[in-house]
Amino acid sequence: MSELRTFGWYAARVAPHLPKEAFQPVPSRLWGGLAYLIVAVSGIAAIGVFDLPVIVNIAISIVLGLCYGGIGLFAHEVLHGTVIRNRKWRDIIGAIGFWPLCVGPKLWRKWHNMEHHIHTQHEHDDPDAWATLEKLQKKPLLRKIYKLPMWLRTVISFTLLSVMFTFHSSRMFKTYINEFKPKDRPAVWMQLILPWATWIALLVWLGPSKWFFFYLIPLFIANAIVMGYISTNHRLNPITTVNDPLANTLSVTVPKWVDVLHFQFSYHAEHHLFPGMNPKYFPMVKDKVKEMWPDRYFEMPLTTALAALWQTPRIYHNHTELIDPETGTVYGTLGNGLDPNNIEAKKPEDKEATVPIYSKVKNH
Ligand SMILES: [Zn+2]
Ligand SMILES: [Zn+2]
Repeated sequence: MSELRTFGWYAARVAPHLPKEAFQPVPSRLWGGLAYLIVAVSGIAAIGVFDLPVIVNIAISIVLGLCYGGIGLFAHEVLHGTVIRNRKWRDIIGAIGFWPLCVGPKLWRKWHNMEHHIHTQHEHDDPDAWATLEKLQKKPLLRKIYKLPMWLRTVISFTLLSVMFTFHSSRMFKTYINEFKPKDRPAVWMQLILPWATWIALLVWLGPSKWFFFYLIPLFIANAIVMGYISTNHRLNPITTVNDPLANTLSVTVPKWVDVLHFQFSYHAEHHLFPGMNPKYFPMVKDKVKEMWPDRYFEMPLTTALAALWQTPRIYHNHTELIDPETGTVYGTLGNGLDPNNIEAKKPEDKEATVPIYSKVKNH
């Protein structure tokens, strides 16, 4: 791996090539969020008010799922301050966008803006980084899962993508609630309770069969959409001691209409370089980065990234390798021998030093 650089180092070199407007908030992006909100409320009302045929309810469910995922990605952008600068309105709009996923804006800014962005792919400090072999030994449930054959593990982990965001966000609440000042904690609690209270009230009011279509199924779809990105953003990249967004982040490519629906979330390396930037300028950042550091930038179609995730284990070893702890099979990471188009385990002679097979390590 070439020498790691911080995101500030890259940003200082790319920023002079970008227009000033790139760093201005873009309130017109609120229209996108409003469109999602109108469709979502209309869909919920349609299922709630009318007794529609199941097939129509399923169709509305799918549209609602796309809306809940899309408006969540919109909330991500709003809470980075790229749409409006006013803190109060930013939090209110961010809260509405994350209402279906039940994440409060204060928790999100702590977890994502402050911890994930500042400590990306740090072994201990990034709340979204996947476990290392050392950490695995302290997690009995994960250890049990890793005893299953890899194909079954992969099927389970891909299925769990449909609930993983909700699961992970409740873990984040537990992790960070006590790090808020005591005077802020009631607000953080309220931002968790209010969305759940709304969805539970609708369950009681409209009944479980309608709730299933306007909340539960769409929630699974929204989880899958956001996790489809989150799982590919960093998990094929190495763990890094320096927060180098070109080394530890992957940009995926999707059809243009998907980028429009998802507020250019696919440009994740660009987003880590400039979290406060209007995403409209991300293609310009991409061109500049590819011109200045052609060997360091990683991008691939989202489908290729998901296929690579499917074929590799998720436990880090020596920061730059992925290891199957049961068999000791080792794969590279991006920039460290992993070819997403031709996934192959490392041969014994290519493995770094002695690779501890989990069955040996666990006896320590
Ligand atoms: Zn990220
Ligand atoms: Zn972000």
